[in-house]
Amino acid sequence: MCDEAVAALDVSIQAQVLNLFLALRRNFELTYLFISHNLGVVGHVSDRVVIMYLGRVVEVAPTDTIFTRPNHPYTQALLSELPTLDTKRRDYQPIQGELPSPLRPPSGCAFHPRCPHAMPRCQAELPALRTLATGHLSACHLNDPAPGAPGITA
Ligand code: SF4
Repeated sequence: MCDEAVAALDVSIQAQVLNLFLALRRNFELTYLFISHNLGVVGHVSDRVVIMYLGRVVEVAPTDTIFTRPNHPYTQALLSELPTLDTKRRDYQPIQGELPSPLRPPSGCAFHPRCPHAMPRCQAELPALRTLATGHLSACHLNDPAPGAPGITA
């Protein structure tokens, strides 16, 4: 388990240590549980990503899916904050509001006070982690099937 393993290092040393991690993984067929707040680092080392908010899993997907087709509004917000070399991009949107205390998380979906898509139901009801596609799960009421429609599974 690697918990914020490169967070305190400067960028050039980070790159060396990450490359060492990757070489060790390849040579010894290791599996890492790599915990980081840095999505750039996560994208570099991971095959599969689990996004958590206030101690709950909100999205799970292969790395490529997380970075190209994020489903959960929190994942989308995290990615919109990620620095990029795309000079045409102008839409950096910080996540609104303060991070609530994990000791007293908001009711229902804990992300609702900061979510641009929040609706009344989000305050009252915890969304289930639903399977959207093979290996891709997300916990958001926006994914709930319309009444009577064939659904995705909880
Ligand atoms: S359940 Fe509601 S508040 Fe939570 S992420 Fe989805 S839309 Fe936003």
